[in-house]
Amino acid sequence: MPFCPQCNAEYKPEVSMCADCQVQLVPERMQTEVTEYGDWYAVESVPNEMAGNILQSVLEEDGIPVYLRCHEVPYYGGVKGNLTESEWGDVLVPSNLLSQARKSLKAYFDSLQDV
Ligand SMILES: [Zn+2]
Repeated sequence: MPFCPQCNAEYKPEVSMCADCQVQLVPERMQTEVTEYGDWYAVESVPNEMAGNILQSVLEEDGIPVYLRCHEVPYYGGVKGNLTESEWGDVLVPSNLLSQARKSLKAYFDSLQDV
């Protein structure tokens, strides 16, 4: 169902403009935005994308939504700048799930040390 991005009214498929707002209708509801969860907190920093993806899957298995935030890396003439601390980015989780996420990650790191 198309709907109006401004007033959220739903319309029949043959309608393309919102009669109230005079704006183009959007085909379907957009994906819920990350703001739905309020604030996001960095629960862990990761050195590369692979580590980020691993932690993401660990958390998502526990039902915690994850957002990977990549740091801007400065480039000098096409060469990656030498960062003293090579952090690729942060693993962000909703603030209300922060303690749960920390527990999940701790359990994961503990399991790594058992090997
Ligand atoms: Zn409208």
